Amino acid sequence: MSDPLQLTAALNERKSNHLYRQRRTLESAQGAEVIVDGKAYLNFCSNDYLGLANHPDVIAAFTSVANDFGVGSGASHLVCGHSRWHHQLEEELADFVGRDRAVLFSTGYMANLGVVNALVGKQDAVFEDKLNHASLLDAGLLSGARFQRFLHNDLANLEARLKKSTDNKKLIVVDSVFSMDGDLAPLDNLAALAKQYNAALMADDAHGFGVLGETGAGSADYFNLDQQQLPVLMGTLGKGLGSFGAFVAGSEELAETLIQFARPYIYTTAIPPAVAAASLASLNIVRNDVDRRQHLQSLIAYFKQQAEQLGLTLMPSITAIQPLMIGDSEQAMAISEALLERGFLISAIRPPTVPANSARLRITLSAAHSKTQVDRLLTALAEVVL
Ligand code: PMP
Repeated sequence: MSDPLQLTAALNERKSNHLYRQRRTLESAQGAEVIVDGKAYLNFCSNDYLGLANHPDVIAAFTSVANDFGVGSGASHLVCGHSRWHHQLEEELADFVGRDRAVLFSTGYMANLGVVNALVGKQDAVFEDKLNHASLLDAGLLSGARFQRFLHNDLANLEARLKKSTDNKKLIVVDSVFSMDGDLAPLDNLAALAKQYNAALMADDAHGFGVLGETGAGSADYFNLDQQQLPVLMGTLGKGLGSFGAFVAGSEELAETLIQFARPYIYTTAIPPAVAAASLASLNIVRNDVDRRQHLQSLIAYFKQQAEQLGLTLMPSITAIQPLMIGDSEQAMAISEALLERGFLISAIRPPTVPANSARLRITLSAAHSKTQVDRLLTALAEVVL
């Protein structure tokens, strides 16, 4: 068969390197337990960190607004897709994270592409942590700015690059919680460095928003950084909030710049109004149900402590992302399969999502889990990994 795009060769190479990716089809809602192929599994790979994706208040908000406003938003925000639900969500998000304004994007991926490209271009430079999320790396490359990757969380390496820079504008971009490692960027020190070198700091708080900080407002809250110190704050609504979409928060001028210039904002359909309403209901829970966040924090502490006692070596993370480093991709896949046989859904994350020889089990904890379920996970890990 003719194959002018050479698809078969590329797919076969992926297979032979044990890097082939496969989807699983869920037959139930997100939660501590999910159904796949008619069988129940304990779910330790979702980003629904607070267990809100299937919360009755969130579902009720969604269905009620779907009844009133229908399903599709009908157009982009600038044409006629911006409903009062979107507007209210933007206002409440800005208030929650202590910024002047927030602008909604349809996904986090698009938010990152949109912001970086609206802020820097050919005469400028973008400095990115090596382990930044793919969407941030793509954003930096697409922007045409001089693209600099500094060593993971290495401030000296970043500073050396900033010192040498003769570029017009300088933008430092990091994940505030690294998605495959779970560790935090030192945002306080990064903000100080940015100030010293007249650069702007952007944080992607996809995995911190709703979860980190005293109030749940995320990494800016955790590090107590105001709009001056951290002028570009991106958060997603599909993880801790259990909904869908993303936002960028900052000054009045930043918000207007995005609305005028961010192409993935301008040229795409707004999220459904019912989804915005669901996010508002989630936000309300995040703001008022402190116990939910505390339960998650206590599960994280418990899991780390018990894993250490068992002799399992976790990565240095205080967040809900608790990866177990395996190294070899084939072995990581075999362990993930063995866990599946025991009734646990945990993905093996392999290159190119993570660097070569650093395949890992990306274990994620959620407020939806009970301590007993975490105990079951620990027992299974001890059987399969040690
Ligand atoms: N940033 C980070 C750090 C992420 O982990 C993700 C999602 N995996 C995104 C951005 C993209 O967000 P979304 O899923 O809303 O496109």
